[in-house]
Amino acid sequence: MSRVYNFSAGPAALPESVLQQAADEMLDWQGSGMSVMEMSHRGRHFMGIAAEAQALLRELLAVPANYKVLFMQGGGLAENAIVPMNMLRGKASADFIDTGVWAGKSIAEARKYGGVNVAASAKATNYTTIPPRDSWRLDPDAAYVHICSNETIGGVEYHFTPDVGEVPLVADMSSSILSRPVDVSKYGLIFGGAQKNIGPAGLTLVIVREDLLGGALPITPSAFDYTVVAENDSMYNTPPTYAIYIAGLVFKWIRAQGGVAAMEARSAAKAALLYGCLDSTAFYKAPVARDCRSRMNVTFFLHDQRLDKPFLEGAEARGLVQLKGHRVVGGMRASLYNAMPLEGVQALVAYMKDFEKSHG
Ligand SMILES: *Cc1c(COP(=O)(O)O)cnc(C)c1O
Repeated sequence: MSRVYNFSAGPAALPESVLQQAADEMLDWQGSGMSVMEMSHRGRHFMGIAAEAQALLRELLAVPANYKVLFMQGGGLAENAIVPMNMLRGKASADFIDTGVWAGKSIAEARKYGGVNVAASAKATNYTTIPPRDSWRLDPDAAYVHICSNETIGGVEYHFTPDVGEVPLVADMSSSILSRPVDVSKYGLIFGGAQKNIGPAGLTLVIVREDLLGGALPITPSAFDYTVVAENDSMYNTPPTYAIYIAGLVFKWIRAQGGVAAMEARSAAKAALLYGCLDSTAFYKAPVARDCRSRMNVTFFLHDQRLDKPFLEGAEARGLVQLKGHRVVGGMRASLYNAMPLEGVQALVAYMKDFEKSHG
């Protein structure tokens, strides 16, 4: 067996020990005589798996008791509709900070359900910055303020938690959740698809403050009404059972590594290594402003884009895969989620130096 270093932006690499445990338990989960995939979501085995996954997540992120943790389906894009349907709560509009592709999608979708105020935008910098907090024109009557904590495509990340006063802060953390500690109490709602930093596609995580529940628009599908989902312990409809099981194994793996603080230290080291390489030469270029650089998705260009193809082919030959940038940005993108070991980044940097020597 040979495994590559997979720099995919998502679905993304998972810890090898998690995959190994899942393989070992595939046919017979802990003496149950069945695979987790075959279990009733209301049976005692799976209820235990789901409860443990939730408890671990609460522990990792120190989720306060007045927040619900929901395991849903639909991904980050469905949440772009589900959030306004649930969170407008009779208000006319919500504020958005436009930081790139993913914030842009949230803005477009929210317009179907209510008013949208783009309180700040990084469009003028071609989305290579996060608009500084003091430039935001927030509406004190907004239902909530929506941010995208990490723009997976552009490679910009918030390195601060914005203070937005009494208005609930909503964050799309699809591509940065569990990569650093967060003070959940500063947010009204956090959501994220699992397939970047948590587990398999199909699971969407929502952490929501209890007092914000109960105000969904009447058109909200019941399966997407946070109150209904919360009242039914995420079992109103069949949840993505296998994805929850794998997420639970990943949570356990994070805890064994030292928790999210350890993930933060490791992420900082990995990102510093790669950005250090990019900054050390004119052969490569990192487009994002230094103080907004994503630790999760590192975007970069080769100085001559005719070298893109040989760069990617040479990387693949060394087992370094999925480095092609998103077509919106072009160039390269290396995603360094929790499961990417430091050794993977070291191998990438060694390759980049060799490639520069032979093509510079
Ligand atoms: C991947 C991603 C999404 C979309 O997730 P889907 O599961 O494809 O709906 C939304 N927001 C961010 C920041 C993402 O990285």
